[in-house]
Amino acid sequence: MLFRSFFSRTLAAGILLLPSVLAGEGKWTPQQVLQLDTAALQRQGLQIPVSRLWDPARGTRLLAATVNIGGCSAGFVSATGLILTNHHCLFALVQEYSRPDRDLITNGFLARTLQEELPGKTTRVTVPRKFTDVTKQVEAAVPTGADDLARNKAIDAKEKELVAACEKKPGARCRVAAFDGGLQYVLIESFELSDIRLVYAPPRAIGEFGGEIDNWMWPRHTGDFSVARAYLDGKPYRPEFFFPVSTAGVKPGDFVMVLGYPGRTVRSLTAAEMAGQRDSYFALRAEVYGEWIRLLDETTRGSAAGTIAVASTQKGLNNVAKNAQGQLAGLKRGRIIEKQAQLEARVLAWAAQRPAFAPAVAAKNELDALTEKRRATAVRDFLLASIANGPIALRQATQLVRLAAERVKPDMERDAAYMERELPRLRDRLERDQKSFFEPADVALLSSLLRRLQAAGQSPLASAPDVNALYASTKVTELTGRLKMFTETTEQLRARHDPLLDLAFALDPALRALDQANKQDDGAVARLRPAWRRAVIAFAGKPVAPDANSTLRVSFAHVKGYSPRDGVFCTPQTTLAGMLEKDTGEEPFDVPASVREAAARIDPAKIPLDFLADADTTGGNSGSPTVNGRGELVGLNFDRVWENVANDFGYNPDIARNVNVDIRFFLWLLKDVEEADTLLKELGAAPAR
Ligand code: GLU
Repeated sequence: MLFRSFFSRTLAAGILLLPSVLAGEGKWTPQQVLQLDTAALQRQGLQIPVSRLWDPARGTRLLAATVNIGGCSAGFVSATGLILTNHHCLFALVQEYSRPDRDLITNGFLARTLQEELPGKTTRVTVPRKFTDVTKQVEAAVPTGADDLARNKAIDAKEKELVAACEKKPGARCRVAAFDGGLQYVLIESFELSDIRLVYAPPRAIGEFGGEIDNWMWPRHTGDFSVARAYLDGKPYRPEFFFPVSTAGVKPGDFVMVLGYPGRTVRSLTAAEMAGQRDSYFALRAEVYGEWIRLLDETTRGSAAGTIAVASTQKGLNNVAKNAQGQLAGLKRGRIIEKQAQLEARVLAWAAQRPAFAPAVAAKNELDALTEKRRATAVRDFLLASIANGPIALRQATQLVRLAAERVKPDMERDAAYMERELPRLRDRLERDQKSFFEPADVALLSSLLRRLQAAGQSPLASAPDVNALYASTKVTELTGRLKMFTETTEQLRARHDPLLDLAFALDPALRALDQANKQDDGAVARLRPAWRRAVIAFAGKPVAPDANSTLRVSFAHVKGYSPRDGVFCTPQTTLAGMLEKDTGEEPFDVPASVREAAARIDPAKIPLDFLADADTTGGNSGSPTVNGRGELVGLNFDRVWENVANDFGYNPDIARNVNVDIRFFLWLLKDVEEADTLLKELGAAPAR
């Protein structure tokens, strides 16, 4: 469908060769991949037919081994359910089992038997099975003359209906994904595995070597990998397909593919919308989360238990805050918004002369106006939305209050986050939270949030409550009290007169109003974006991959260095020797003694560690299998270079580099440092060819 205009033009001209734009830019959907020209891809280095990537009829082949693990990507790497992903993707599971006297974060973890593997309370994996275009059904569900809120409601209801039918199959987890804001809707059926156990995590000093200093940077020397195993009915899961692990390695110029679940990019936004994202989202993330990181540092200093409890939250905030700074810097440096405005002007002029694209002009103007309108409440809206990422207790209280109100409604009429299908995971989360709760840290974050809400004006609260008193008497922060609240009605929750629940009740109208405003805007975007995108894609005259939306994508790339700035060129591969060079003995550059000793027995310059490629990736691609032209696993994507963080707004081939960990380093570590023979045997690394 996305190719229709392109194909009709090229067919008319008598050519059907897809251009060499295929490597580099584009997070291609499985459906798009099948329409790509194998010969063109083979010229780039693909050694298998594209049909080996995905068999839509049977829902199998390489992409069936590419799974989603809690918003990250991962790959099956053994016939008995081993899953390889990033260390940072399984970090919360490592943190779940860490205690001051058994600090798995610092020491790492290796299960030497199946019995020793550690089940994650909230870790889940989805395996892709089927993609069905449901655009016509979704569009037909919208009544003529519907306003934007009604449009959103109708689309939402149709999606819920399609999902419910899809999930009748045992183990199925389904969603309807909108592409290009509603130009296309696809029903995605996956198989969900909810028993996921930790098998291996390296010490943090390897998995996160370089810490926040090296994060989003190159040159890099991080061993960002961990291993889990999926179970079904208490037995190791046998995947339909798994990636053979290759020891053949990569070298500059080699073809690679990155397969995974990129989360969200904003390249299809108008220039004005991009400016809105910059000011009302990334700038606020950098500022607010920057403060929260400092508060977590201060309140846990000197407490081993506190440090472990907040480790996962803090790591997440650090990653997101530095990313936000990278987005801001990259937008400026690459003049991305200015370039988008120039492109837009050309599309507008082109569309204005073609009656078929007349709606695009009006749509674009209306999209711009929507963004401008939201600026007035941007700070307050951001803070309210950030309840999800900050003080744990307030997030829990708002969820409990909302759950009680939603539960009395028929399932299909509830807010999607509180439908029956979500309740087991919501309960698991409320339980799991206990391992991340540290009261002094939570008090500090809540105080900051409330102070900022007051300062932003239009605060939903008449006055800020006394936060210390509130934590002293609430039962929300106690596991048993909280789980009891999980089943209570609104009246029961109110009757408790719990100060934290009361705060959540006081915030509830504002949270609902924000929800409504978002839904109304979503309805407008579903009406406007397709018209605008149709014009942009027709104007481009070539296949255009849609923005990332947490669905399965493929990026074709090559191993490649880059020039981050004038006079500097970075080569694309690092080795263990570089890690040893960076070793200061102090966090975050403290190479573990076991690694130093093993490295002394070999030539560390011969152990490849990380490598760059020009794959088109974003957050969510963490843990993506990076495979060679034969579809064998050669690495794992885990990051991008600093100059490329803002590629979420626009791809620039000069600086578009993703950072991968070389599978050969992982294998060396398992063999020479961990002596993990059983695990290595199960991985059965394919010999070099
Ligand atoms: N380190 C990145 C993250 O955690 C990986 C994906 C990306 O390139 O954004 O979000």
